[in-house]
Amino acid sequence: MERIVVLGGRESGVGAAVLAKVKGFDVFLSDMSHIGNDYKQLLDKYEIEYEEGGHSPEKILNAQCIIKSPGIPETASIVQEAYARSIDVISEIEFAGKYDNAKKICITGSNGKTTTTTLIYYLLQKAGLNVGLGGNIGKSYALQVATEHHDIYVLELSSFQLDGMYEFKADIAVLLNITPDHLDRYDHNMQNYINAKFRITRNMSADDCFIFCSDDEVTVKAIKDIIIKARQLPFTQESVVEQGAYLENNTMIVRYGDDSYQMNINEIGIEGKHNVYNSMAAALAGKIMHVGNSVIREALTNFTGVEHRLEKVLSIKDVMYINDSKATNVNSTWYALESMKTPVVLILGGTDKGNDYSVIFDLVKRKVHSIVCLGIDNKKIHDNFEDKVEQIVDTLSAEEAVRVASKLAKSGDTVLLSPCCASFDLFKNYEDRGRQFKEAVRRL
Ligand code: ADP
Repeated sequence: MERIVVLGGRESGVGAAVLAKVKGFDVFLSDMSHIGNDYKQLLDKYEIEYEEGGHSPEKILNAQCIIKSPGIPETASIVQEAYARSIDVISEIEFAGKYDNAKKICITGSNGKTTTTTLIYYLLQKAGLNVGLGGNIGKSYALQVATEHHDIYVLELSSFQLDGMYEFKADIAVLLNITPDHLDRYDHNMQNYINAKFRITRNMSADDCFIFCSDDEVTVKAIKDIIIKARQLPFTQESVVEQGAYLENNTMIVRYGDDSYQMNINEIGIEGKHNVYNSMAAALAGKIMHVGNSVIREALTNFTGVEHRLEKVLSIKDVMYINDSKATNVNSTWYALESMKTPVVLILGGTDKGNDYSVIFDLVKRKVHSIVCLGIDNKKIHDNFEDKVEQIVDTLSAEEAVRVASKLAKSGDTVLLSPCCASFDLFKNYEDRGRQFKEAVRRL
């Protein structure tokens, strides 16, 4: 019996292990750290052997194939040993794709993946289609392939998942944008990161569609050097395209074949220029899937966004509190500030991944009067913004940050948590930071 070893015992790995077991492989799962109780129960239910707290080479390097969870870097010694023995190392998505005939709509990009993936899923559900949601979101794709049936999947794919994909083919691929991120995992070489993102177009044929942002210089430049057989459908807010999506004044126009769809962007439920891009990509995917215009309109109007992404929390004393905790890089915060229509008290800070704050200087000068730092080391924020805002105050908890921000905010202002940084200095993760922020706002 062929042996499959899964590295990583969380959502992706456990799902892959269950699918491998259901398909009759000899399966073993190994995790360097602790495996959660829910996952252990699932592994036990399917009688899958596992270990935690370390990797036993003798139980791993006898596999014909290793399924590696996206969080484990290529440089991990067990992965390097597997390569040295010419063992295939693939991702959960690659593995599950082998057992799934559904149509696959795949979304990648540096920013906007979760929003756009969720929006496309919402739109296809509204159209009454039997659709599953997976990849980086919610229940793993592999577990769904093992235990459910869907005609279509909408999958959010990170570059780490794409790295382990070889034969997988998307029917519709969406590439939202490419800005420097995770470069530590790509030898600090931007081209390696770009190449990883473009793996989403691998194996596509002329019947498939590639949706991309033609305002994104990095994407447009890279396309010139890559052979893409799929039909190319750009979306843009800066020019007019024959096929794809573009803006005319405030109207978004989508053209696919002889079909078209139009909508005033002020009717879109989620705010900001970036969400116009995300909505264009979603509407294009909808058109390709033959969804009617009234359903597209209903979906784009009613979709209220995903938790922690420009999420409106409460308005208190005419001050709106917005949770954008997922903004963990400067580019995301740029879009958050760009969408602000009132003066802003900005809550900023955390673990800096090498931010170049000059990207947001102009927007901060125009819209932000006070900065509240929420992080342990705030020196870089002080150095960059001291001459651009009226005041900068350091805080060490969400509670304190919200209290200080509420004092600095005037009637009509917005208090925006859009930290530009990861959260690991003070919080478990960005979700924890966002929830603590919301709780503190509700207690005001
Ligand atoms: P991802 O899943 O790629 O991390 P999300 O949908 O979770 O992206 O959004 C994260 C943040 O990125 C949002 O809070 C928003 O500020 C910003 N963002 C969303 N869509 C885009 C886009 N198309 N271009 C640039 N920034 C975006």
